[in-house]
Amino acid sequence: MAAKGREIRVLGLPVSDSTMEETLAYIDKTVAEQGYARIVTMNAEIAYLAATDQKVRHIIETADYVTSDGSGILWAAERYGTPLKERVSGIDLVQHLLARGKHRFYFLGAHPDVIETAMMKIHSDYPDVSIVGYHDGYFKEEESAAIAQEIAAAQTDILFVAMGFPKQDQWIMEHREEAGIHVAIGVGGSLDVLSGNVKRAPKVFQKMGMEWFYRLCTDPKRIKRMMALPKFMSLVKKDCKK
Ligand code: UDP
Repeated sequence: MAAKGREIRVLGLPVSDSTMEETLAYIDKTVAEQGYARIVTMNAEIAYLAATDQKVRHIIETADYVTSDGSGILWAAERYGTPLKERVSGIDLVQHLLARGKHRFYFLGAHPDVIETAMMKIHSDYPDVSIVGYHDGYFKEEESAAIAQEIAAAQTDILFVAMGFPKQDQWIMEHREEAGIHVAIGVGGSLDVLSGNVKRAPKVFQKMGMEWFYRLCTDPKRIKRMMALPKFMSLVKKDCKK
């Protein structure tokens, strides 16, 4: 099995203390060994949900590898006295994997027009990429088996599921064997970014750990979801005092 490196705990949940390069090496090794890894890209909202819901917690605890998708996780790691080397977000991970021209990828998620546009953009931005298939994320549960079989028939190495947490991760857990993949990663709204429909925050916001603020300003509907961030911070502060 590919080595995972050091893991730290945030609200008792595992997080890998790895750089982007180390994460890519773990993925390469898992594919090379024909192994299997389910990767969760965890932000503060996901950690808060997991800390307050046992079923959601199970999704994180049983993952093979958990990356620090958001700056809230890095902030928490500092508070616990176990700082992480760097942030490894889902969208950065997808872009790094696509840029390297290795592996066979399948994308599952987003609205039909969004995934079509994303596929066109990916082929033009990464001419050497091998996308072996894709499917939008709005299908009936009874279609899942056929989608998983299509993923297997395409000899997919890496499956990106972009249907939001926890739906995407549950889909992976239920269908990974049928889909016969080596690495499966839940990547949230990545296809919205890859299609150009959603703009990422400028680098300066990302560096300051303020990407969430930019997202909130550009999409105020997210306010309800983002209320998880102060709740997450308060839980971490309490946990650190124990
Ligand atoms: N989505 C999907 N199927 C669903 C529900 C959502 O494919 O049944 C997609 C949605 O279109 C969007 C993504 O999942 O592209 C979720 O994006 P969100 O911004 O919520 O994810 P985050 O990055 O915040 O986890």
